[in-house]
Amino acid sequence: MDLRPNESQRAVQEHARSFAQRVLAPEAARLDREGGFPRANLAAAAQAGLLGINVPPALGGRGAGVVAYSLAITETARVCAATTVALCVSNMVAEVVTHFGNEEQRRELVPKLCRGELVVGAFALSEPGAGSDPGGMRTKATRTDRGWVIEGSKLWITSGTDAGLFVVWARTSDAPGTRGISTFLVRGDTPGLIRGKPEHKMGLNGSTTTAIDLEGCEVGPEAMLGEEGRGFPVAMMALDGGRIGIASQALGIGLAATETARRVAIDRSRFGRPLGDQQAVQHMLADSATELDAARLLVLRAAWLKERGTAFSREASIAKVFATERSFAACGRAIQVLGAEGYDEAFEVERNYRDVRVTMIYEGTSEVQRIVISRDIMRRFADGG
Ligand SMILES: Cc1cc2nc3c(=O)[nH]c(=O)nc-3n(C[C@H](O)[C@H](O)[C@H](O)COP(=O)(O)OP(=O)(O)OC[C@H]3O[C@@H](n4cnc5c(N)ncnc54)[C@H](O)[C@@H]3O)c2cc1C
Repeated sequence: MDLRPNESQRAVQEHARSFAQRVLAPEAARLDREGGFPRANLAAAAQAGLLGINVPPALGGRGAGVVAYSLAITETARVCAATTVALCVSNMVAEVVTHFGNEEQRRELVPKLCRGELVVGAFALSEPGAGSDPGGMRTKATRTDRGWVIEGSKLWITSGTDAGLFVVWARTSDAPGTRGISTFLVRGDTPGLIRGKPEHKMGLNGSTTTAIDLEGCEVGPEAMLGEEGRGFPVAMMALDGGRIGIASQALGIGLAATETARRVAIDRSRFGRPLGDQQAVQHMLADSATELDAARLLVLRAAWLKERGTAFSREASIAKVFATERSFAACGRAIQVLGAEGYDEAFEVERNYRDVRVTMIYEGTSEVQRIVISRDIMRRFADGG
């Protein structure tokens, strides 16, 4: 058993690391302070082949696989978690269209997503009454002579201000709960798609999160992605894969904070010796290193299973719940090691702490991940079989 990334996975990891240092690092603190959509970063990411990492080269992607994708996301998140969430969602949208789209949708949209011609993709599932429970969805699509008219409101949509393509879920029948939901591909310039103002968030300030209103939003029959009424499985499959991305993002943030704490523990002296000579500080660093190592292995296992084409839903949820919660703990410890500087916005760990918090909420809260895991335990074996 070889746990090391192979040569091509390592090459993608190194490529993402150098991209993050060259492009993301100089702008990350300013983006956090000023807010806004990281358009220049994402255009550069498209040029660097980071908007279709796990998309086949025939459709304009890098075809690097899920493990390489996870490694790349961890590298960009170490430096700018805000740009990384837009990257994660756009990669997810490109994969969803690749997987569920018909030939025409694939050929028309996926290369444009990879090249950044649609800026980025957005994923519009959540609604005021439907976050953890998509069955509470009220957005509706009504069939017309020319296709569909979509009416409703979506909430918390990453990159909602600028995305050129939205994957939108809407009810197409009166069937209750998660039945009768369909998926639509809606261009950002479609009349009736109205973008809200960016929310004022705790973190990830350099990414925008907005409401999207759909008012008489008319799309042709070709906008439907996958089968009519089978939208819920599309969303769940997308989120299973997306959770590997968010777990990778959280891991990157936790690693960044722990590295800062390590450097400070070496450089700063108190009571006549380096902080890192104090056992209490050593234990904090040891706990973070142990937990982040475990998180890394869980994330890589989920990515490896998805890459092999085997079931990975439970493993993706395990990776997400562990990586996000332990990375949050690691960011908290990093603040503790830095003392007052850890609490000051001039030092990165304060941003890391705010940025990592949401990873326990979006693409399924920690509670939802535990539901997914426990349901699978009931179906299979406690050790996953
Ligand atoms: C920065 C940001 C970006 C986002 N980006 C997107 C995006 O791009 N696209 C998108 O569609 N959505 C996005 N979201 C929305 C996100 O996915 C939802 O916020 C999330 O799914 C939780 O839904 P909710 O906020 O409605 O919370 P609720 O579903 O109301 O849950 C509230 C609390 O109750 C708990 N809870 C709910 N049901 C249960 C249960 N059965 N058992 C135990 N506990 C339960 C939850 O875990 C949570 O702690 C984003 C959110 C944020 C903050």
